[in-house]
Amino acid sequence: MGWRVPWLAVLLGLGGCTGGVVARPVTLCDASARETQPLSAQFLGASTLTIDDGATVVMIDGFFSRPSALKMLFWPLKPDHTRIDAALARANIQRVNAVFVAHSHYDHVLDTAEVANRTCAEIYGSPSTRNVVLSQTINSVRVKDMGNKKSYPIGSMTVTVYSTEHSKPVRFSGKVSQKFRLPAHAFAFREGGSFSFHIQHKDRSILIVPSANLENYSFAGVKADIVFLGVGGLGVQDKTTIHDYWNRSVEAVCARVVVPIHWDDFTRSLSRPLRRLPWPLDDYAATLKVFRPLAESRNVSIIEPDAFERFDLGDASRLFAMEEGSGCTASAMITR
Ligand SMILES: [Zn+2]
Repeated sequence: MGWRVPWLAVLLGLGGCTGGVVARPVTLCDASARETQPLSAQFLGASTLTIDDGATVVMIDGFFSRPSALKMLFWPLKPDHTRIDAALARANIQRVNAVFVAHSHYDHVLDTAEVANRTCAEIYGSPSTRNVVLSQTINSVRVKDMGNKKSYPIGSMTVTVYSTEHSKPVRFSGKVSQKFRLPAHAFAFREGGSFSFHIQHKDRSILIVPSANLENYSFAGVKADIVFLGVGGLGVQDKTTIHDYWNRSVEAVCARVVVPIHWDDFTRSLSRPLRRLPWPLDDYAATLKVFRPLAESRNVSIIEPDAFERFDLGDASRLFAMEEGSGCTASAMITR
């Protein structure tokens, strides 16, 4: 199919871009106190998502421009202000306390500075993320360094950062230099280290693994009720690799709910329905074929919310219907 051709060029390591509409960014943030609401989440495509209790909002990445594959191949990339504004409006996001960036490839960090500027968020990221963000000379935006296994209090939440691995194969590895400037080709957005995030909110715990590769049991001793599990590229790995990835994430933390993320074609605008990443980049159905029996045997629910759907993370009737009887003990799973 024709739409696969640009993706094949990406596989070969070519770079690309967006010619975004130039519009003046709108600052949405409202500093007034807000009402606490039930803890909820929104999946916003790729590994962009929010965890929100009304008073505190933590976002991962904040990537909304999603340039087409053709644009990505033939033009340098820059944030698309129209798409960013449209996505924030549709998600009803006015203020974000902190944006944590998974790594500094363009499908994670391209829009982070613009989103943080609009929502008055602080950014937490690697030195590469810092270089992408600070190259944009947006005065109000601040970047804080993240450290492996370091915890950061963000309002009513505590976010703990874990260094984890990038999905295979790693394209555009290395670091982003201080000379980085936008617009820039996709290959200029170097990985700069990859990270996962654990969020504790009262008695609810959430693990977010943006990139589908865990070469180690990185979450030893970590407990999480819900895992937002990056699966991009996982379906074209062998079954043992997929199984190991499940063991090192969902099983290791005794999760009861799994929300797959980063399964969608991120060269497609969020104004259209999400579509799976095409083969040979991924085979999401193959991933689910391995995951589903594992989930069933462990009484784990796999849920696939629509983009922008706000779903309640404290809704025991929906998320934790099988609260009893999984038999999972975190320590038993972390033996290798
Ligand atoms: Zn990446």
